[in-house]
Amino acid sequence: MTIDLRSDTVTKPTEGMLRAIMNAETGDDVYKEDPTVNELERRVADFFGMHTALFFPTGSMANQAAIKLHTQPGEQLICDKWAHVYNYEGGGVSFNSGVSCKLVDGTRGMITAKQVDESINPPDFYHSPLTTLVCLENTTNKGGGACYDFAEIEKIKAVCDANGLGLHLDGARLMNALVAKNEDAKDYGKIFDTISLCFSKGLGTPLGTVLAGREEVMENAIRIRKVLGGGMRQIGFMAAAGLYALDHHVDRLAEDHKKAKELAETLKNCSYVSKVEPTETNIVIFYLSEEISEETFMDEMEAKNIRLSNMGQGKLRMVTHLDYTDTMHDIVCAELLGYA
Ligand SMILES: *Cc1c(COP(=O)(O)O)cnc(C)c1O
Repeated sequence: MTIDLRSDTVTKPTEGMLRAIMNAETGDDVYKEDPTVNELERRVADFFGMHTALFFPTGSMANQAAIKLHTQPGEQLICDKWAHVYNYEGGGVSFNSGVSCKLVDGTRGMITAKQVDESINPPDFYHSPLTTLVCLENTTNKGGGACYDFAEIEKIKAVCDANGLGLHLDGARLMNALVAKNEDAKDYGKIFDTISLCFSKGLGTPLGTVLAGREEVMENAIRIRKVLGGGMRQIGFMAAAGLYALDHHVDRLAEDHKKAKELAETLKNCSYVSKVEPTETNIVIFYLSEEISEETFMDEMEAKNIRLSNMGQGKLRMVTHLDYTDTMHDIVCAELLGYA
């Protein structure tokens, strides 16, 4: 048995989810004739209290489409230096939209309204790229599952409004933040112009991300999705998995968060660990002490069938998820404590 803590994307559909997939009513979604996709899009739009939602194969494509909807080539967006849109989407910001990123030195992947304000190029200074968009991430991935303080998001929105900037949320793991902080999705829907929500992370489906947004911004979304190659046919099978996840896999995220906290506590008791980042949701980031290399540690864990990921700069990451059972959790805690 391999215990895979590399990511919450490694989960397989549960029996209930497989039944929902098998029984899905489908149609050709490129003609907008897939009733299950239409239902999922309606459901996510309503969840955020937003007008429009569109189903995408991946979170990267949904983010990239959102960036394209908000920008023109030559313009600039503002994001944290660790942002997924900048670091892990293959350079899509420049490839797809011809846009540059002003990177902000945030805290655990989160930026402040003050930093956003200071990063905006004066619109009449034609030497610099025109700033048109701010991208936030909640929870942050490289920032270790950190959750924004909602009051800060409201302040960022005020800066965006004052400067005519769009505001996109990479909400790949927004559901984790909503559960951890007991927040209302509709509050997010009021603030952001576009929000991407992944179903293939903690929610446990094989694929799918829904991009929700305000009507004016989303007008061209289906064309952009087509351009990016994301028009899918009988994809209602996967939308059915998404609907199932909304009904069955949201509240249980609290279990993932509990296990992640317990892993963090365990690591704090290990002499070979130099630092553990605060653990708010399902991601644990920690650093080893000088004597031991990340490679050695990972190899030795692999030999015990425990997989984690190396995020670079000394960061090791474990992510808890639907397929990480209580039994596995006991084994990992014992192996971490026993490792010397
Ligand atoms: C996983 C993830 C995405 C989307 O990734 P895909 O693999 O393209 O679905 C986007 N943003 C963040 C923060 C993520 O963690």
